Amino acid sequence: MTGVTIALSKGRIFEETAPLLEAAGIVAADDPERSRKLILETNRPDVRLIIVRATDVPTYVEHGAADLGIAGKDVVDEHGGAGLYQPLDLNIARCRMMVAVREGYDYAQKVTQGARLRVATKYVRTAREHFAAKGVHVDLIKLYGSMELAPLVGLADAIVDLVSSGRTLAANQLVAVEEIASVSSRLIVNQAALKLKRARLQPILASFARAVAQSGGVSVA
Ligand code: ADP
Ligand code: MG
Repeated sequence: MTGVTIALSKGRIFEETAPLLEAAGIVAADDPERSRKLILETNRPDVRLIIVRATDVPTYVEHGAADLGIAGKDVVDEHGGAGLYQPLDLNIARCRMMVAVREGYDYAQKVTQGARLRVATKYVRTAREHFAAKGVHVDLIKLYGSMELAPLVGLADAIVDLVSSGRTLAANQLVAVEEIASVSSRLIVNQAALKLKRARLQPILASFARAVAQSGGVSVA
């Protein structure tokens, strides 16, 4: 494939990425929310989009099945950045990775006491690194969704999850007690593709950077 393949996920990421793609002169031929196609052609014969699960985006890019990808920092950190070049913070899908507990649960005191905490999360690696750095002993419980439920039914003392408005936490009588990281979507690039397809990729990267700068605040890593 001499053209460029861009991996992204449906929903929030696609919606917020579409204007950036458009600014780079790339418009999808189908709406991924309505089409069942997983490969979307674009107005540019040399660019196609592939629609994958958010957590799978770094895998496609790492293996070179996609040249570029758009994924949350949460997903990129959990995957690990090996083989991935991360040139640009797209400043979209902003939220925070937080530790949350049930209202009334004295997290600070448990930590001070050196208690062993049961932590439920989709982000096992991120959670392990966070608590190890704090010197807190944890038993990690891997979940695939609805983390908010875990403390309510006694599966865990705490969760590690993404929070934006905090409404889901509040609706489940949970409170955020610690911020682990600030999250936004990142452009990720296969390092080999960057060398081999530089002439094709560089203008796309540059348009993304311009579009992000125009939409307010660029941060080039
Ligand atoms: P999935 O259901 O497959 O996890 P989501 O659309 O919920 O997919 O999440 C995709 C990405 O969007 C996440 O990896 C994260 O970077 C970002 N994201 C998730 N939740 C929020 C949120 N509440 N606000 C902003 N961005 C979010
Ligand atoms: Mg979700």
